Amino acid sequence: MVSMDTLTIKTENKFRSLVTKRAYAKGELICEIPTEKVVNKANRYTVQIDKDKHTDVGKLAALNHSCAPNVILDTENLLMYACRDIEKGEELSFFYPSTEWEMDAPFICLCGSSNCIHVVAGARFLPLSTLERHYLNKHIREMMIELLNNTELHLTKLQEV
Ligand SMILES: [Zn+2]
Repeated sequence: MVSMDTLTIKTENKFRSLVTKRAYAKGELICEIPTEKVVNKANRYTVQIDKDKHTDVGKLAALNHSCAPNVILDTENLLMYACRDIEKGEELSFFYPSTEWEMDAPFICLCGSSNCIHVVAGARFLPLSTLERHYLNKHIREMMIELLNNTELHLTKLQEV
């Protein structure tokens, strides 16, 4: 198990963030995603790892969303990676819709990135063209294909009437 000792939670005006105590190179493994407690419904401490599986991520629940993130959560291998070079003391963030299909508590993003999606509510609420710009986990890709197939089926039925 890769330890999470290099990560620390910072609280400022009740706003939590996850900060790294060391630098990481792009592609470097940071830690494993905890899976001791898996539930079937999303909450603010979980990350979605499959269609109907959400794991309590412990300390990693302090990871904030960014539309220009510096880490990736690979829910197939249950690992967290740096997706660009990260400096010591930098806040870690990931793209929530890369794991979350439909979020428990949607919010407005103020990350300021030129690619900002503004409304962070889960992958199902984003156009494919936006999602394609990001790392997406297998369950999100599958759920998106399912949604598109259902929509196509629905449209075909409408035409038949
Ligand atoms: Zn944003």
